[in-house]
Amino acid sequence: MNNDTRQRSRTGLIMAAVIFIAIGVGVVLGAHRLIMDASSVTHSNEVIVRIDELEARLRDAEAAQRGYLLTANPIFLADYRNASEKLPGIYADLRGRIHDNPAQLARAQSLWAHVQQRARQLAQTLSRYREGGLPAAQAAIDHGVIESSTAIRQQAEAMREAEVILLVQRGESTHDSANLLRELALLGIPIGILVILSVYRLLVLEIRRRGQAEGETAQANEQLQVTLERVELRSTELRALSNYGSMLQSCAQPEEAWQLTESLFATILPDAAGSIYRIRNSQDHAELAAQWGETAQVSPEMIAVDACWALRRGQPHATDAMHGARCTHLGAEGAVDSTDLCVPLVAQGAQLGLLSLSSSEQSLSAHRDIIEAAVEKLSMALANLSLQDRLRQQSIRDPLTGLFNRRYLEESATRELARCARRGLPLSLLMLDIDHFKSFNDLHGHAGGDTVLAQFGKLLQTITRGEDIVCRYGGEEFTLILPEADVEAASARAEAIRLAVEAMQVPYLGKLLPKVTVSIGVAGYPAHGQTQETLMQAADKALYQAKRAGRNRIEIAIGM
Ligand code: GH3
Ligand code: MG
Ligand code: MG
Repeated sequence: MNNDTRQRSRTGLIMAAVIFIAIGVGVVLGAHRLIMDASSVTHSNEVIVRIDELEARLRDAEAAQRGYLLTANPIFLADYRNASEKLPGIYADLRGRIHDNPAQLARAQSLWAHVQQRARQLAQTLSRYREGGLPAAQAAIDHGVIESSTAIRQQAEAMREAEVILLVQRGESTHDSANLLRELALLGIPIGILVILSVYRLLVLEIRRRGQAEGETAQANEQLQVTLERVELRSTELRALSNYGSMLQSCAQPEEAWQLTESLFATILPDAAGSIYRIRNSQDHAELAAQWGETAQVSPEMIAVDACWALRRGQPHATDAMHGARCTHLGAEGAVDSTDLCVPLVAQGAQLGLLSLSSSEQSLSAHRDIIEAAVEKLSMALANLSLQDRLRQQSIRDPLTGLFNRRYLEESATRELARCARRGLPLSLLMLDIDHFKSFNDLHGHAGGDTVLAQFGKLLQTITRGEDIVCRYGGEEFTLILPEADVEAASARAEAIRLAVEAMQVPYLGKLLPKVTVSIGVAGYPAHGQTQETLMQAADKALYQAKRAGRNRIEIAIGM
């Protein structure tokens, strides 16, 4: 119910109540008037009764007096006295009833004067009878008797007529009052019904409005609940994202970053499948680094950068079964109700890789901002990791040959020696020095010498095992640590290296440089030394021996 309707209903009700109250007042006043009229009618009747009674008692007194005069029977005398004595009382009563009607009061006084006169005549005749008997009494009957009797009758009649006129008037008034009451009743009933109907209608409207308001409140509460749940979920997601960011900063390996990313998406997009690709140094391909969840298509191990619109354009790219250009790495077609979102991993302008997610369109777009924030954090972390890696590589690698440098050699030699010692395994150390390199440089220039050194580094890398540590000790000198290799095996490896160097051809400025040879000193743990320093000294001595013995050969250290 709106305010207007409520105002109108209220005004209507107030008006109906005013009319109702007016009818009620009218009924009360009408009833009062009816009661007053009824009591006035009774009053007039009683006045008439009193007048009749006064006349009747006077006639009784006359009749008793006459009886006594004729019979001298004292009973008549007693009756006469009895009737006479009642007259003043009746008059007093009559007077009392008409004291508010001056005209009737005047008539009553006149009537009473005549009655008194008549009573006096009766008493006088009686007193003559006592003195002189019946003849004296007859003689005493005055002619005035007839006049006074007539006057009494006329006066009584006049009073009765006046009362009858009053009765007629009161009868009419009673009739009017009754009519008024009936009309009020006839008016009151429909108005009462109207008021009841209005109240009923208001109640129904009010109940309906309350029901509606309650429904709206319940709906608002439900919506509030949904919003609260959404806010709670959002704050859980934001907490997970912030936690993800701070954990990423402590990652030492990209694999740890993949793990964290997978568990973040398990929290915020539990239904999504995902994969991470990392761009290779060549920049034209990206290789699969991690994947989770179930997808319609198996993620290929390697994808061309051109196969992904996100990588090509350097911005997020979404495709579903119906819309958007589909990345070829996602396969020919995706699931009907699934959308694929590819987001490139970019940091400091460099493309590092790709995050690919597959889930419902609704879920992906609801979490789009979180996904992009996570990708940004992941990209930053990857950029930091690769920067760290580059710095580390720079600090342990020799730039010309790509081999480990001397600093790394010293670190790792101590570590490997301790490891082999712990496990009771041998370890061998080779010192290599290119023969007559000074004169090589002199003949072919420093750049030619560098080309040989670089090629020599590559050769050492290809000829050694993964666990061997190959270092450029400095200048044209190199050191190899062969964990778990005894002197015999190390000598065989040294010989193989020597032969390979001997056969090595180095193209330079369109022609082949002259071949170089290498001399190698071999020392083994535990036979030739217990520490890195003593082993190196022993290997160095052996190398010196090899040089002295004519170069392009290997020498084994002499036992300590
Ligand atoms: P041998 O070892 O057979 O006794 O004679 P060698 O001439 O190799 O001996 P030496 O140790 O006296 O000379 C080493 C030479 O290696 C000196 C230098 O010209 C050359 N050399 C050292 N470092 C580099 C380098 O980084 N690049 C080039 N091109 N030459 C280097
Ligand atoms: Mg040297
Ligand atoms: Mg040399």
